[in-house]
Amino acid sequence: MKITRISVYRTDLPLTKPYWLSGGRLRFDELDSTLFAVEADDGQTGWGEGCPWGHTYLPAHGAGIRAAAELLAPALLGQDPRELDKINRIMDLTLPGHLYAKAGLDVACWDLFGQSCGLPLAELMGGRESLAGAPIASSISTGAPEEMLAEIQSYRDRGYFAHSAKVGGDTGLDVARIRHLEAERNPGETIVYDVNRAWSRQEAVTVMNQVADLGVTVEQPCETIDDCAAVSRRTGASICLDERLETQGDLTRFIADGIGEVVNIKINRVGGLTKARRLRDLAEAGGLRMLIMESGGSVIADTGAAHLAATVPDHLMIGSWLCHDMLSRDLAPGRGARNDAGRMAAPTLPGLGVAPDLTLIGAPVAVYE
Ligand code: MG
Repeated sequence: MKITRISVYRTDLPLTKPYWLSGGRLRFDELDSTLFAVEADDGQTGWGEGCPWGHTYLPAHGAGIRAAAELLAPALLGQDPRELDKINRIMDLTLPGHLYAKAGLDVACWDLFGQSCGLPLAELMGGRESLAGAPIASSISTGAPEEMLAEIQSYRDRGYFAHSAKVGGDTGLDVARIRHLEAERNPGETIVYDVNRAWSRQEAVTVMNQVADLGVTVEQPCETIDDCAAVSRRTGASICLDERLETQGDLTRFIADGIGEVVNIKINRVGGLTKARRLRDLAEAGGLRMLIMESGGSVIADTGAAHLAATVPDHLMIGSWLCHDMLSRDLAPGRGARNDAGRMAAPTLPGLGVAPDLTLIGAPVAVYE
């Protein structure tokens, strides 16, 4: 089986309403997404998507994915897409780093692998622990405590029982936000408080010590792993690593130094499903609980994350996320991983189990063959 053609599509994905992160520092209205169609000599096509949630959230951007494809796609032509470790070594040799630019190509190769042997990705990546799928974590925009609770309630009305509440900024207001939402949290409901790097070390220590009695988990409180390590020595609150997890080395350090108990593995940021799967195994070996999701994108991206999330045992899974639930454009209406009572089941079709409607994504912006 050989890769014969790689087509690259660019599509804009508008959010249904403006979204604020990191204490209001970062605003998002529309996402720039790149879709890859990887065709093989058996006539099958695999799909993958790269969408780094704008260009201010991570050191990544949509145009960077398409520029990297000019180097990566020609290097993959003629290769066997089922040899995923080899595919990733070729991409790493061709262009060191730039993990986010490789994820869509990696997922498209996984899709071809699954189609070639008639198995869904969840089964290929170790087996499905949950037929119902992982809980979906809502993504609650930074706002006043009452506004954030109202947003959580709107997700509850749709079955959600896991939430990622975005805080950061004014430390007094952050304590009020966390205390208000915890006081109104339903039994069995999970809320992770995501700072998206907004606090200084001192601000993190101040807030986290003031809410330590609540037993909450705080995600990426400060900019770096060093910051998180320093904060963890001075607070009892649990830390989740997100933005600064890219490699196995990052996660090894997080575990070995006992910095926190939770990790957020984002498929795009870590370079695709091949590398995300290795991080899943490392997290499980380290006894960490996990969030597994995409950094952004349509239902194509979300469905890849749903497959990997489905392979994590329930006691280690906190939740995933459906970015497409926040978009006003749907590239594969009715198909792929969808909200079902607050959970997202991965498809049982071979491969990724979803492809975009070609009439919705227009012509490719580049074709390599
Ligand atoms: Mg986060």
